[in-house]
Amino acid sequence: MIGAGAVGAGTAWHLARQGHNVSLIDPSLEAPIQRNNSLDQALNGTTASLGVLMGHVFRRSSGRAWRLRQRSMELWPQWVERLNHPDTPLQLDSPLIQLASDPVESERMQSLANQRRELGLESFSSANSESHQIPWPNPGHGGLCSHNDGRIDPLALQRALRRSLKTEEVALLPARVTALHRQNPDEGNRWGLELDTGHNTHYDVVVICTALASALLLQPLGHEFPMEAVLGQVLDLQVSATTKAWDHWPAVLVCNGVNLIRHGHNRLWLGATLEHGEEPSTEEPSIMRRLDGLAPNWLQEAEVVDQWHGLRARPSGRPAPLLEVLEPGLILASGHYRNGVLLAPATADWVGQQMMNTTKIPAS
Ligand SMILES: Cc1cc2nc3c(=O)[nH]c(=O)nc-3n(C[C@H](O)[C@H](O)[C@H](O)COP(=O)(O)OP(=O)(O)OC[C@H]3O[C@@H](n4cnc5c(N)ncnc54)[C@H](O)[C@@H]3O)c2cc1C
Repeated sequence: MIGAGAVGAGTAWHLARQGHNVSLIDPSLEAPIQRNNSLDQALNGTTASLGVLMGHVFRRSSGRAWRLRQRSMELWPQWVERLNHPDTPLQLDSPLIQLASDPVESERMQSLANQRRELGLESFSSANSESHQIPWPNPGHGGLCSHNDGRIDPLALQRALRRSLKTEEVALLPARVTALHRQNPDEGNRWGLELDTGHNTHYDVVVICTALASALLLQPLGHEFPMEAVLGQVLDLQVSATTKAWDHWPAVLVCNGVNLIRHGHNRLWLGATLEHGEEPSTEEPSIMRRLDGLAPNWLQEAEVVDQWHGLRARPSGRPAPLLEVLEPGLILASGHYRNGVLLAPATADWVGQQMMNTTKIPAS
Protein backbone atom coordinates (compact mmCIF):
# COMPACT_ATOMS: atom_id res chain seq x y z
CA MET A 1 0.00 0.00 0.00
CA ILE A 2 1.36 3.44 -0.90
CA GLY A 3 -0.12 6.40 1.04
CA ALA A 4 -1.33 6.37 4.66
CA GLY A 5 -4.20 8.87 4.68
CA ALA A 6 -7.67 7.64 5.66
CA VAL A 7 -7.98 5.70 2.41
CA GLY A 8 -4.57 3.98 2.43
CA ALA A 9 -4.37 3.31 6.18
CA GLY A 10 -7.99 2.11 6.29
CA THR A 11 -7.44 -0.18 3.33
CA ALA A 12 -4.18 -1.56 4.76
CA TRP A 13 -5.98 -2.38 8.03
CA HIS A 14 -8.88 -4.03 6.19
CA LEU A 15 -6.56 -6.14 3.99
CA ALA A 16 -4.50 -7.24 7.00
CA ARG A 17 -7.69 -8.33 8.75
CA GLN A 18 -8.56 -10.33 5.63
CA GLY A 19 -5.29 -12.21 6.08
CA HIS A 20 -3.01 -10.51 3.55
CA ASN A 21 0.61 -9.64 4.34
CA VAL A 22 0.58 -5.86 4.10
CA SER A 23 3.22 -3.13 4.05
CA LEU A 24 2.21 0.54 4.23
CA ILE A 25 4.61 3.15 2.84
CA ASP A 26 4.33 6.88 3.54
CA PRO A 27 6.90 9.47 4.73
CA SER A 28 4.32 10.79 7.22
CA LEU A 29 4.35 7.52 9.19
CA GLU A 30 7.31 8.90 11.12
CA ALA A 31 5.46 12.04 12.23
CA PRO A 32 2.89 12.46 14.99
CA ILE A 33 -0.71 12.89 13.83
CA GLN A 34 -1.48 16.56 14.45
CA ARG A 35 -2.22 19.85 12.69
CA ASN A 36 1.11 21.64 13.22
CA ASN A 37 2.61 24.50 11.17
CA SER A 38 -0.66 24.49 9.36
CA LEU A 39 -0.63 28.13 8.26
CA ASP A 40 2.33 27.83 5.89
CA GLN A 41 1.94 24.31 4.59
CA ALA A 42 -0.94 22.36 3.11
CA LEU A 43 -1.84 19.37 5.28
CA ASN A 44 -2.60 15.99 3.76
CA GLY A 45 -6.28 15.65 2.88
CA THR A 46 -7.22 13.51 5.86
CA THR A 47 -5.53 15.69 8.49
CA ALA A 48 -7.06 18.85 6.98
CA SER A 49 -10.49 17.31 6.72
CA LEU A 50 -13.44 17.88 9.04
CA GLY A 51 -14.50 14.23 8.91
CA VAL A 52 -18.09 15.00 7.96
CA LEU A 53 -20.00 11.87 6.91
CA MET A 54 -22.79 12.91 4.55
CA GLY A 55 -23.91 9.52 3.31
CA HIS A 56 -27.67 9.49 3.54
CA VAL A 57 -28.31 13.09 2.49
CA PHE A 58 -26.65 12.52 -0.89
CA ARG A 59 -28.88 13.90 -3.66
CA ARG A 60 -28.89 10.93 -6.03
CA SER A 61 -30.51 7.58 -5.22
CA SER A 62 -28.72 5.35 -7.73
CA GLY A 63 -25.33 4.89 -9.41
CA ARG A 64 -21.85 4.12 -8.12
CA ALA A 65 -21.52 7.25 -5.96
CA TRP A 66 -24.72 6.44 -4.07
CA ARG A 67 -23.79 2.74 -3.66
CA LEU A 68 -20.35 3.64 -2.27
CA ARG A 69 -21.93 6.06 0.22
CA GLN A 70 -24.46 3.49 1.36
CA ARG A 71 -21.76 0.85 1.74
CA SER A 72 -19.59 3.21 3.78
CA MET A 73 -22.45 4.22 6.07
CA GLU A 74 -23.18 0.53 6.62
CA LEU A 75 -19.52 -0.21 7.44
CA TRP A 76 -18.71 2.83 9.62
CA PRO A 77 -20.34 1.52 12.84
CA GLN A 78 -18.42 -1.79 12.47
CA TRP A 79 -15.15 0.06 11.80
CA VAL A 80 -15.60 2.25 14.85
CA GLU A 81 -16.47 -0.69 17.06
CA ARG A 82 -13.29 -2.52 15.99
CA LEU A 83 -10.98 0.50 16.01
CA ASN A 84 -12.14 2.07 19.26
CA HIS A 85 -9.63 1.43 22.05
CA PRO A 86 -8.97 3.15 25.40
CA ASP A 87 -5.61 4.40 24.05
CA THR A 88 -7.13 5.68 20.81
CA PRO A 89 -10.82 6.35 21.44
CA LEU A 90 -13.04 6.69 18.40
CA GLN A 91 -16.73 7.43 18.02
CA LEU A 92 -19.32 8.47 15.47
CA ASP A 93 -21.11 11.72 16.29
CA SER A 94 -24.58 12.45 14.93
CA PRO A 95 -26.91 13.99 13.78
CA LEU A 96 -26.25 16.23 10.81
CA ILE A 97 -28.59 19.14 10.15
CA GLN A 98 -28.72 20.90 6.79
CA LEU A 99 -30.47 24.27 6.57
CA ALA A 100 -32.29 25.12 3.33
CA SER A 101 -31.19 28.39 1.74
CA ASP A 102 -34.33 28.93 -0.33
CA PRO A 103 -37.82 27.46 -0.91
CA VAL A 104 -36.61 25.26 -3.81
CA GLU A 105 -33.98 23.62 -1.61
CA SER A 106 -36.52 23.27 1.17
CA GLU A 107 -38.87 21.39 -1.17
CA ARG A 108 -36.05 19.14 -2.36
CA MET A 109 -35.15 18.33 1.25
CA GLN A 110 -38.75 17.55 2.09
CA SER A 111 -39.08 15.10 -0.78
CA LEU A 112 -35.71 13.47 0.13
CA ALA A 113 -36.88 13.05 3.72
CA ASN A 114 -40.12 11.44 2.52
CA GLN A 115 -38.17 8.91 0.43
CA ARG A 116 -35.55 8.11 3.07
CA ARG A 117 -37.39 7.99 6.35
CA GLU A 118 -36.02 4.51 7.06
CA LEU A 119 -32.48 5.88 6.63
CA GLY A 120 -33.15 8.41 9.39
CA LEU A 121 -34.00 11.55 7.41
CA GLU A 122 -36.54 14.02 8.70
CA SER A 123 -37.41 17.44 7.29
CA PHE A 124 -38.51 20.43 9.34
CA SER A 125 -40.06 23.75 8.45
CA SER A 126 -39.17 27.15 9.91
CA ALA A 127 -42.41 26.90 11.93
CA ASN A 128 -41.45 23.69 13.75
CA SER A 129 -37.70 24.37 13.96
CA GLU A 130 -38.07 25.54 17.56
CA SER A 131 -39.69 22.29 18.73
CA HIS A 132 -36.85 20.41 16.97
CA GLN A 133 -34.37 22.65 18.85
CA ILE A 134 -32.66 23.74 15.66
CA PRO A 135 -29.68 25.82 16.83
CA TRP A 136 -29.98 28.75 14.47
CA PRO A 137 -31.58 32.14 15.03
CA ASN A 138 -33.56 32.12 11.82
CA PRO A 139 -33.87 28.82 9.95
CA GLY A 140 -36.04 30.72 7.44
CA HIS A 141 -36.69 27.89 5.01
CA GLY A 142 -36.48 24.93 7.35
CA GLY A 143 -34.16 22.05 6.53
CA LEU A 144 -33.25 18.43 6.93
CA CYS A 145 -32.10 16.42 9.93
CA SER A 146 -30.19 13.22 9.13
CA HIS A 147 -30.06 11.17 12.32
CA ASN A 148 -27.49 8.68 10.99
CA ASP A 149 -25.10 11.07 9.22
CA GLY A 150 -22.61 13.11 11.21
CA ARG A 151 -18.92 13.07 11.79
CA ILE A 152 -15.81 11.17 12.78
CA ASP A 153 -12.74 13.00 14.13
CA PRO A 154 -10.12 12.50 11.37
CA LEU A 155 -7.16 12.80 13.76
CA ALA A 156 -8.67 10.26 16.18
CA LEU A 157 -9.37 8.00 13.19
CA GLN A 158 -5.76 8.13 12.00
CA ARG A 159 -4.45 7.46 15.52
CA ALA A 160 -6.80 4.52 15.93
CA LEU A 161 -5.80 3.14 12.54
CA ARG A 162 -2.11 3.50 13.29
CA ARG A 163 -2.49 1.59 16.55
CA SER A 164 -4.57 -1.12 14.89
CA LEU A 165 -2.13 -1.46 11.98
CA LYS A 166 0.56 -2.34 14.51
CA THR A 167 -1.74 -4.88 16.18
CA GLU A 168 -2.42 -6.47 12.78
CA GLU A 169 1.35 -6.57 12.15
CA VAL A 170 1.27 -4.37 9.08
CA ALA A 171 4.84 -3.29 8.20
CA LEU A 172 4.98 0.52 8.44
CA LEU A 173 7.69 2.01 6.19
CA PRO A 174 8.28 5.76 6.66
CA ALA A 175 9.46 6.58 3.13
CA ARG A 176 8.38 8.22 -0.12
CA VAL A 177 8.00 6.03 -3.20
CA THR A 178 9.92 7.72 -6.00
CA ALA A 179 9.26 5.21 -8.81
CA LEU A 180 7.35 2.04 -9.66
CA HIS A 181 8.73 -0.59 -12.07
CA ARG A 182 7.17 -3.61 -13.74
CA GLN A 183 9.15 -6.79 -13.11
CA ASN A 184 9.05 -10.20 -14.72
CA PRO A 185 6.56 -12.16 -12.54
CA ASP A 186 8.50 -15.37 -13.27
CA GLU A 187 11.42 -13.87 -11.33
CA GLY A 188 9.33 -13.15 -8.24
CA ASN A 189 7.10 -10.21 -7.43
CA ARG A 190 5.49 -8.19 -10.19
CA TRP A 191 6.31 -4.69 -8.93
CA GLY A 192 9.55 -2.99 -7.89
CA LEU A 193 9.39 0.17 -5.77
CA GLU A 194 12.15 2.75 -5.38
CA LEU A 195 12.10 4.62 -2.08
CA ASP A 196 13.67 7.97 -1.18
CA THR A 197 15.59 6.19 1.58
CA GLY A 198 17.68 4.59 -1.17
CA HIS A 199 16.11 1.16 -0.63
CA ASN A 200 14.30 -0.84 -3.30
CA THR A 201 11.51 -3.20 -2.43
CA HIS A 202 9.23 -5.65 -4.30
CA TYR A 203 5.59 -6.64 -4.06
CA ASP A 204 3.14 -8.82 -5.92
CA VAL A 205 0.32 -6.30 -5.56
CA VAL A 206 0.60 -2.53 -5.20
CA VAL A 207 -2.33 -0.32 -4.15
CA ILE A 208 -1.87 3.39 -4.83
CA CYS A 209 -3.63 5.69 -2.34
CA THR A 210 -1.53 8.83 -2.69
CA ALA A 211 -4.25 11.35 -3.63
CA LEU A 212 -2.76 14.08 -5.88
CA ALA A 213 0.62 12.33 -6.06
CA SER A 214 -0.94 9.27 -7.72
CA ALA A 215 -0.80 10.82 -11.20
CA LEU A 216 2.98 11.30 -10.90
CA LEU A 217 3.60 7.69 -9.88
CA LEU A 218 1.42 6.32 -12.69
CA GLN A 219 2.43 8.49 -15.61
CA PRO A 220 5.81 6.78 -16.28
CA LEU A 221 3.91 3.47 -16.52
CA GLY A 222 1.65 4.88 -19.26
CA HIS A 223 -1.43 5.37 -17.07
CA GLU A 224 -2.84 8.89 -17.32
CA PHE A 225 -5.00 9.96 -14.38
CA PRO A 226 -4.74 13.75 -14.21
CA MET A 227 -6.12 15.38 -11.08
CA GLU A 228 -6.56 18.97 -10.04
CA ALA A 229 -5.92 20.35 -6.57
CA VAL A 230 -8.91 21.94 -4.87
CA LEU A 231 -7.78 23.72 -1.74
CA GLY A 232 -9.89 23.89 1.41
CA GLN A 233 -9.44 26.30 4.33
CA VAL A 234 -10.90 25.79 7.80
CA LEU A 235 -11.31 28.43 10.53
CA ASP A 236 -11.24 27.62 14.25
CA LEU A 237 -13.39 30.24 15.96
CA GLN A 238 -13.83 31.20 19.58
CA VAL A 239 -17.37 32.34 20.30
CA SER A 240 -17.53 34.92 23.10
CA ALA A 241 -21.25 35.03 23.95
CA THR A 242 -22.78 31.60 23.54
CA THR A 243 -26.47 31.65 22.73
CA LYS A 244 -29.31 29.36 23.79
CA ALA A 245 -28.83 27.61 20.45
CA TRP A 246 -25.39 26.49 21.57
CA ASP A 247 -26.83 23.90 23.99
CA HIS A 248 -28.39 21.89 21.17
CA TRP A 249 -25.65 21.99 18.59
CA PRO A 250 -25.75 18.86 16.39
CA ALA A 251 -22.58 16.96 15.40
CA VAL A 252 -22.62 18.97 12.17
CA LEU A 253 -24.71 21.95 11.12
CA VAL A 254 -24.54 22.73 7.40
CA CYS A 255 -25.52 26.22 6.25
CA ASN A 256 -24.96 27.45 2.71
CA GLY A 257 -22.74 24.43 2.05
CA VAL A 258 -20.43 25.28 4.98
CA ASN A 259 -20.00 22.92 7.94
CA LEU A 260 -20.18 24.35 11.47
CA ILE A 261 -18.82 21.93 14.04
CA ARG A 262 -18.78 22.71 17.72
CA HIS A 263 -15.77 21.50 19.67
CA GLY A 264 -14.98 22.20 23.27
CA HIS A 265 -16.82 24.72 25.40
CA ASN A 266 -17.01 27.72 23.06
CA ARG A 267 -15.17 26.77 19.88
CA LEU A 268 -16.42 26.15 16.39
CA TRP A 269 -14.75 24.82 13.25
CA LEU A 270 -16.04 26.44 10.11
CA GLY A 271 -15.17 24.94 6.73
CA ALA A 272 -14.26 24.41 4.17
CA THR A 273 -13.59 26.74 1.25
CA LEU A 274 -13.39 25.39 -2.31
CA GLU A 275 -10.46 27.05 -4.10
CA HIS A 276 -8.75 26.06 -7.33
CA GLY A 277 -4.98 25.67 -7.13
CA GLU A 278 -2.56 25.22 -4.26
CA GLU A 279 -2.28 28.75 -2.79
CA PRO A 280 -4.78 29.74 -0.07
CA SER A 281 -6.75 32.91 -0.84
CA THR A 282 -6.84 35.62 1.84
CA GLU A 283 -10.44 36.62 1.00
CA GLU A 284 -12.17 33.24 0.80
CA PRO A 285 -12.28 32.56 4.57
CA SER A 286 -14.16 35.82 5.28
CA ILE A 287 -16.53 35.19 2.36
CA MET A 288 -17.23 31.70 3.74
CA ARG A 289 -17.81 33.14 7.20
CA ARG A 290 -20.62 35.42 6.01
CA LEU A 291 -22.56 32.33 4.88
CA ASP A 292 -24.00 34.40 2.07
CA GLY A 293 -25.63 36.81 4.52
CA LEU A 294 -27.10 34.07 6.74
CA ALA A 295 -24.47 34.20 9.52
CA PRO A 296 -25.75 35.46 12.88
CA ASN A 297 -23.90 38.30 14.59
CA TRP A 298 -22.24 36.09 17.19
CA LEU A 299 -20.60 34.10 14.39
CA GLN A 300 -19.40 37.21 12.57
CA GLU A 301 -17.93 38.52 15.84
CA ALA A 302 -16.18 35.28 16.86
CA GLU A 303 -12.38 35.44 17.09
CA VAL A 304 -10.25 33.34 14.72
CA VAL A 305 -7.90 31.37 16.98
CA ASP A 306 -6.54 28.95 14.40
CA GLN A 307 -6.72 28.25 10.70
CA TRP A 308 -5.44 25.54 8.38
CA HIS A 309 -5.70 24.35 4.82
CA GLY A 310 -5.31 21.17 2.81
CA LEU A 311 -5.63 19.90 -0.73
CA ARG A 312 -8.35 17.71 -2.20
CA ALA A 313 -7.55 15.52 -5.23
CA ARG A 314 -10.21 15.95 -7.88
CA PRO A 315 -9.95 13.66 -10.93
CA SER A 316 -10.05 15.63 -14.20
CA GLY A 317 -12.73 14.45 -16.59
CA ARG A 318 -13.74 11.46 -14.46
CA PRO A 319 -16.02 11.07 -11.47
CA ALA A 320 -14.44 10.78 -8.02
CA PRO A 321 -13.17 8.47 -6.66
CA LEU A 322 -10.80 6.60 -9.00
CA LEU A 323 -11.18 2.91 -8.19
CA GLU A 324 -9.49 0.86 -10.90
CA VAL A 325 -7.45 -2.29 -11.40
CA LEU A 326 -4.95 -0.92 -13.92
CA GLU A 327 -3.06 -4.13 -14.67
CA PRO A 328 -2.39 -7.37 -12.81
CA GLY A 329 -1.31 -6.42 -9.30
CA LEU A 330 -1.68 -2.65 -9.78
CA ILE A 331 -4.70 -1.07 -8.10
CA LEU A 332 -5.60 2.62 -7.94
CA ALA A 333 -7.78 3.85 -5.04
CA SER A 334 -7.45 7.59 -5.09
CA GLY A 335 -8.94 10.95 -6.15
CA HIS A 336 -11.65 10.99 -3.48
CA TYR A 337 -12.04 14.76 -3.80
CA ARG A 338 -14.47 15.95 -1.06
CA ASN A 339 -15.40 12.59 0.46
CA GLY A 340 -12.30 10.53 1.17
CA VAL A 341 -13.01 10.12 4.86
CA LEU A 342 -16.64 9.20 4.24
CA LEU A 343 -15.68 6.71 1.54
CA ALA A 344 -12.68 5.09 3.25
CA PRO A 345 -14.58 1.95 4.42
CA ALA A 346 -16.31 1.41 1.04
CA THR A 347 -12.98 1.90 -0.74
CA ALA A 348 -11.22 -0.62 1.51
CA ASP A 349 -14.06 -3.04 0.91
CA TRP A 350 -13.75 -2.60 -2.87
CA VAL A 351 -9.96 -3.13 -2.81
CA GLY A 352 -10.48 -6.21 -0.62
CA GLN A 353 -12.80 -7.68 -3.24
CA GLN A 354 -10.27 -7.05 -6.04
CA MET A 355 -7.59 -8.75 -3.93
CA MET A 356 -9.83 -11.77 -3.40
CA ASN A 357 -10.17 -12.03 -7.18
CA THR A 358 -6.45 -11.87 -7.86
CA THR A 359 -4.54 -13.33 -4.92
CA LYS A 360 -4.58 -16.25 -2.57
CA ILE A 361 -4.47 -15.55 1.16
CA PRO A 362 -1.81 -17.68 2.89
CA ALA A 363 -3.30 -20.33 5.19
CA SER A 364 -2.65 -19.42 8.82
C1 LIG B 1 -10.28 21.28 4.26
C2 LIG B 1 -10.79 19.94 3.86
C3 LIG B 1 -11.94 19.45 4.44
C4 LIG B 1 -12.43 18.19 4.08
N1 LIG B 1 -13.54 17.71 4.71
C5 LIG B 1 -13.97 16.44 4.43
C6 LIG B 1 -15.05 15.90 5.15
O1 LIG B 1 -15.64 16.56 6.00
N2 LIG B 1 -15.43 14.60 4.87
C7 LIG B 1 -14.79 13.85 3.93
O2 LIG B 1 -15.15 12.69 3.72
N3 LIG B 1 -13.74 14.36 3.24
C8 LIG B 1 -13.33 15.62 3.46
N4 LIG B 1 -12.28 16.16 2.78
C9 LIG B 1 -11.68 15.35 1.69
C10 LIG B 1 -10.80 14.31 2.31
O3 LIG B 1 -9.95 14.90 3.23
C11 LIG B 1 -10.00 13.57 1.24
O4 LIG B 1 -10.84 13.11 0.23
C12 LIG B 1 -9.29 12.38 1.88
O5 LIG B 1 -8.56 12.79 2.99
C13 LIG B 1 -8.41 11.69 0.91
O6 LIG B 1 -7.74 10.68 1.64
P1 LIG B 1 -6.49 9.97 1.03
O7 LIG B 1 -6.06 8.93 1.99
O8 LIG B 1 -6.82 9.56 -0.38
O9 LIG B 1 -5.42 11.13 0.85
P2 LIG B 1 -4.53 11.91 1.91
O10 LIG B 1 -5.17 11.99 3.23
O11 LIG B 1 -4.13 13.19 1.25
O12 LIG B 1 -3.26 10.98 2.08
C14 LIG B 1 -2.37 10.73 1.00
C15 LIG B 1 -1.09 10.24 1.61
O13 LIG B 1 -0.23 9.83 0.55
C16 LIG B 1 1.10 10.11 0.97
N5 LIG B 1 1.95 10.15 -0.23
C17 LIG B 1 1.91 11.04 -1.26
N6 LIG B 1 2.86 10.72 -2.18
C18 LIG B 1 3.51 9.62 -1.71
C19 LIG B 1 4.58 8.82 -2.21
N7 LIG B 1 5.17 9.10 -3.39
N8 LIG B 1 5.00 7.76 -1.48
C20 LIG B 1 4.40 7.46 -0.30
N9 LIG B 1 3.37 8.18 0.23
C21 LIG B 1 2.94 9.25 -0.48
C22 LIG B 1 1.00 11.45 1.67
O14 LIG B 1 2.10 11.64 2.55
C23 LIG B 1 -0.33 11.32 2.39
O15 LIG B 1 -0.17 10.90 3.74
C24 LIG B 1 -11.75 17.40 3.10
C25 LIG B 1 -10.59 17.90 2.52
C26 LIG B 1 -10.11 19.15 2.88
C27 LIG B 1 -8.84 19.64 2.25
